[in-house]
Amino acid sequence: MSYLVAKSMIRAKTAFRGLPVPTAIALSCPHCHEFLTYSCRDYLYHAATQTITFLGTCPACSGKVSFWQVNSRDGEKSQIFMYPAAAHQHQVIPGIEYVPQPIAENYREALQTYHHRYYKAATTMVRASLEDIFKTVLGDGEIKELAALIQELAQKNNLTEQVTDIATTIADSPQLLAYLTFDNKPSQDTAAVLLKLLEFILSYTYVLPAAIKRLQHEISCLEQAGETE
Ligand SMILES: [Zn+2]
Repeated sequence: MSYLVAKSMIRAKTAFRGLPVPTAIALSCPHCHEFLTYSCRDYLYHAATQTITFLGTCPACSGKVSFWQVNSRDGEKSQIFMYPAAAHQHQVIPGIEYVPQPIAENYREALQTYHHRYYKAATTMVRASLEDIFKTVLGDGEIKELAALIQELAQKNNLTEQVTDIATTIADSPQLLAYLTFDNKPSQDTAAVLLKLLEFILSYTYVLPAAIKRLQHEISCLEQAGETE
């Protein structure tokens, strides 16, 4: 739940009094919870605070949202707030910068198609991401060996029993594979579970090991600083 409009949400801009303002903002509507593009209008400039206020309307439910663009004259510091806040959205996992580029792209696409309610497309991208992880971690492998992948990852990263428990749960779940191989049509709930599964694997394969390395480096820097004092 956020009141801040991220720059990536702005789809189109125009100029108002010589200042850039959005004309279209993609967000999860706080009224109908659809992910879509709000159109903006009724801009007003408040000189004393360099604030531009405007109105956004949902194309699906006609619900209204108020926007405030602060620091309008400074492109760097300019920020847009909204009320009511956008409906909760499944956010990109923290540490995505540690995930290899092609896998991260597939994952972002899985999230985007999920937000647009294309659950089959989301599942396709989850599957593509998992297959890429197979290639980078195991060299090869098939989607049917998902449980084996998790176990191998757990061994490689020396993870705890919980990971093995998840692998066992996956191995015992023919339904999961039925969704990934499209024998069953994915619903929102199943697409959400598959996304979470992918995020779990991304976190343990790329993000956590990188975070551990960074922490080790920071600790050794502390020790070196201590020695020179
Ligand atoms: Zn709406």
